[in-house]
Amino acid sequence: MADGAAQRGTGTAMSSGERPVDVTQTEGARGTMIRIEGAGMVYPTDDGPVEALRDIHLDVCEGEFVALVGPSGCGKSTLMRAIAGLRPVTSGQIWVDGSLVDKPIPKVGMVFQAALLLKWRTVLDNVLLPVELSDQNPARFRARAAELLNLVGLGDFMHKRPAELSGGMQQRASLCRALIMDPPILLMDEPFGALDAMTRDEMNIELLRIWGESRSASHQRKTIVFVTHSIPEAVFLADRVVVMSARPGRVASVRTVPLARPRIAETRADPELGRLSFEIYTELAGTAGKVESRAGPQW
Ligand code: ADP
Ligand code: MG
Repeated sequence: MADGAAQRGTGTAMSSGERPVDVTQTEGARGTMIRIEGAGMVYPTDDGPVEALRDIHLDVCEGEFVALVGPSGCGKSTLMRAIAGLRPVTSGQIWVDGSLVDKPIPKVGMVFQAALLLKWRTVLDNVLLPVELSDQNPARFRARAAELLNLVGLGDFMHKRPAELSGGMQQRASLCRALIMDPPILLMDEPFGALDAMTRDEMNIELLRIWGESRSASHQRKTIVFVTHSIPEAVFLADRVVVMSARPGRVASVRTVPLARPRIAETRADPELGRLSFEIYTELAGTAGKVESRAGPQW
């Protein structure tokens, strides 16, 4: 497809409360899971308004893996919080699975850079926390929690406290916590950013395995939006990479990743990965002169 073709919901008439029509050309029968229409965010601050996002248009298909890259401070985390309904946009609209997002939605599991496990609870009880917070009976979810922990290799650690786990293991546990309620959408904000390179690479493969990339197409994969500072990580994981410009964040381009699935360790040596990563790097470096942030862009 032409880059950016699925970026906008072109020509879709939609009145308030109506389910958006899928206009994405690239994904066959798959419906639109997340639709971002002209989204903007202005934060009021003591120093005046800060415009974090401006006129973002993006459709994410059901079961699609989309990565977001862009300079530090361009609004990636803001966009993730807006999709989750934690802080609604100040202009435009976001739709998730056909419903307008105007409050926190239960359809998402979130994973952040820090694992954010409660240190006094066991790993298992940390994974069960969302169950308790949603007023459901944790006993009904114990088997599922154990299954997820086994799936990520933490079966022998479920009764340990987080301090007894390595950083990578803690992040695996936080992934299980995000998955326990079986949300159709995973929002991951630099989830592996604090891990060493080798562990990060392992976690990438692990994530794709959990996502189910090697299973048949009929398998209902989760829709994933994944923020990262690492361009090669974005390309390795995603179906499409959304490149954002410096603040106020806008969609600068949307790149379709031409790498076959399943992606395996050898995929990292694929020349296409290097080529696309370099293209994105060059594009981001081109915006560097316009970056307002004191720290400058980081990727
Ligand atoms: P990124 O995740 O891409 O680094 P953020 O979404 O965290 O960017 O922030 C985008 C911009 O919005 C930054 O300039 C940041 O300082 C500002 N910002 C983020 N959250 C708030 C907030 N709660 N109040 C005021 N400004 C904020
Ligand atoms: Mg951020």
